[in-house]
Amino acid sequence: MPESGLLASLADNPYFSAGFGLVGVGTALAVLRKGGQFAFIAFRRHAMITLEVPSKDRSFQWLLQWITLNARKAQHLSVETTFHQNDTGKINTKFDFIPSPGTHFFSYKNHWIRVERSREKGMLDLHTGTPWETVTLTSLGWRRELFFEILAEAQKMALSREEGKTVMYIPMGAEWRQFGFPRRRRPLDSVILANGVTEKILADIKDFIHSPKWYMDRGIPYRRGYLLYGPPGCGKTSFIQALAGELEYSICVMNLSDRSLSDDRLNHLMSIAPQQSIILLEDIDAAFVKREEDEQGGQNMYLNRVTFSGLLNTLDGVASTEERIVFMTTNYLNRLDPALIRPGRVDIKQEIGYAEADQIERMFRRFYPQESDRNARQFARNVSNLGELKSIAQIQGYFMLHKNSPQAALENVNFLKE
Ligand code: ADP
Repeated sequence: MPESGLLASLADNPYFSAGFGLVGVGTALAVLRKGGQFAFIAFRRHAMITLEVPSKDRSFQWLLQWITLNARKAQHLSVETTFHQNDTGKINTKFDFIPSPGTHFFSYKNHWIRVERSREKGMLDLHTGTPWETVTLTSLGWRRELFFEILAEAQKMALSREEGKTVMYIPMGAEWRQFGFPRRRRPLDSVILANGVTEKILADIKDFIHSPKWYMDRGIPYRRGYLLYGPPGCGKTSFIQALAGELEYSICVMNLSDRSLSDDRLNHLMSIAPQQSIILLEDIDAAFVKREEDEQGGQNMYLNRVTFSGLLNTLDGVASTEERIVFMTTNYLNRLDPALIRPGRVDIKQEIGYAEADQIERMFRRFYPQESDRNARQFARNVSNLGELKSIAQIQGYFMLHKNSPQAALENVNFLKE
């Protein structure tokens, strides 16, 4: 047969069979390589687990801190410095070492975990000005719970640092950023208000916190507004701090006179405030002049970019199921526009006024616990005989002058005279 003769002669030809062999080897290699790739993809898909956490996510910082503790042998670190000056002027600086961008390994519960911290080139988080980053954890196996456990541990570790503390937030760009170190909680009984005021507000706020369903059933936005007014140094700010401590809430402080704050930003910040936080708008009178005055004066009614109607709109908000607690403070109630303090925007108005005799007595006892009630009453009488109203801050300042001598405090009350 001519065909079989041809095949036989080709097979006998050494050049032809060598070429054929080479093609065969090349094909086999290509198949192997492709197969290897498929196998790796399949392996990654079925036998490896990965978790990607972008820097925008709240877990990101927690996770970095946690990895620092667990990957003790990580040799390549970045430093993160927190700097805080407290009221007394003392400066605290804290250095945290966190794994630097790159790849690190550590073992957790008998699993090897690979950490890759990568920084996107040329991508900035516009809100914070920091590079956009991700941390990716990879491990062998298919137990996804491993990552949940890690995240839960990281969260617990981070929150335990805040235990017993009140966290303050301030606006930074379009988001809330923690301000300084969490502060030790201020005990509620360290703020001495007129009889019954603390109890009344605490009961109201607790009742509010415990009744989301009541609001939802009636289609009422779940928010409550409080206005504390009165002269400076009488405890408005201290009381809000102590309340937050008592409720284990954080405080988001917003200064409406901030010129970089616009209506949109205000609205946005309000809607993304951390859960379980009190929003504090301090010295609300300073941000706006009364509308009538403005209309008469014909001047620009706004001292900054937040407009009065913008603030009202933000306070009214869109009906939301999110809990919203807003505290406003002012030294001058009469400077506030009635539209701002009508029910719905401000549900409870409370004066925090000059020290009453009973408060002065309690302050005395708090400062000099070993002294008799008689002396405390005498001190209060001496102060009221001055015929001048005093703030608790003034009384506190006076006690500081007589730290170790209650007797001198009793006798020198005239020092308090203006
Ligand atoms: P306000 O916000 O009314 O101007 P602050 O709360 O800032 O007053 O008080 C200023 C200082 O005076 C703080 O150090 C605070 O401890 C003290 N102080 C003022 N009022 C009280 C009060 N009612 N009880 C205890 N301390 C007070």
